[in-house]
Amino acid sequence: MGMISASLSATERNQSMSLPIHAYFQGKIVPYSEARVGVLTHGLNYGTAAFGGLRAYWNDEQEQLFLFRAEDHYRRFLNSARLLLMEFEHTPESLVQVTIDLLRADGHRQDVYIRPLAYKEDEIIGVKLHGLRDAISIVALPFARYVANDTNAHVTISSWRRVDDNAIPARGKIAGAYVNSALIKSDALQSGFDEALVLNQDGHISEGSAMNIFMLRDGVAITPPVTDNILEGITRRTVIELLRQELGVPVVERPIDRTEVYICDEFFMTGTAAQVTAVTKIDHRPVGAGVMGPITAQLRIIFDDIVRGNNPKYHCWNTPVYP
Ligand code: PMP
Repeated sequence: MGMISASLSATERNQSMSLPIHAYFQGKIVPYSEARVGVLTHGLNYGTAAFGGLRAYWNDEQEQLFLFRAEDHYRRFLNSARLLLMEFEHTPESLVQVTIDLLRADGHRQDVYIRPLAYKEDEIIGVKLHGLRDAISIVALPFARYVANDTNAHVTISSWRRVDDNAIPARGKIAGAYVNSALIKSDALQSGFDEALVLNQDGHISEGSAMNIFMLRDGVAITPPVTDNILEGITRRTVIELLRQELGVPVVERPIDRTEVYICDEFFMTGTAAQVTAVTKIDHRPVGAGVMGPITAQLRIIFDDIVRGNNPKYHCWNTPVYP
């Protein structure tokens, strides 16, 4: 036990210790201890599940918890489920309401991460997608930083390849496909890096293990297109808009060669968990001057202000949880 906790970072330890208080399970909000599935559950055995990941940010001054782009997250969540032949009566709007009810039941006054899961719940043997019962669960738990070095991450190029759209679609959050992300992440961490960039089958950079990527070259932000086996990230979409509208930086969506990232001026990763994480070294080569670049730094400030509900221009992205 001592050995295990010694090998975990402070963030990982905190996150591994706190369990959710309640869960949305079988259509009701119940104590988390009652949200249980059998070991033969289809989604658990075959990875036939799709998940989401959204955040709510605590605003101390306003004493309010704000969900960030909750409807967009739930739209993608239901689309990911559709890739697995799942149909629900829920809409993005109804799932946002369930999430508000859940967060109110928990009474959080801190940043939280919310994890919706749509899974094949039958307890049977047999690999298929059709003719099975589908279920949705949602839990929330306190959550701070995801990448420990979020101002100076050192990343490598993974020796693993990204799953292809014709194998398991990367554009949705399909549970089974995250074995690919787990292989990438553990390899990177166990080799002393903070994260890894992963190449497509054709050798272009797609994304990180659980984040989209952007590089800056000559004042232009470049990010891979959604046809390059990336998750269609909500933070990616947000950052594209903020770069253009708030910072006047042009954004181009095009494939990125492996060696381009070795000579770019700035590099950052985006995700609900990672937020805007600055990368300052790639495969032991400094990115630009080897410190967080000015565009990345400004973007982090603008982003944090918006997600906490402090920028009226973007209030349409903030859903208050408490009355
Ligand atoms: N790529 C992958 C593979 C991810 O798991 C995530 C996290 N959801 C992202 C990118 C970032 O997506 P988002 O900004 O919607 O969280």
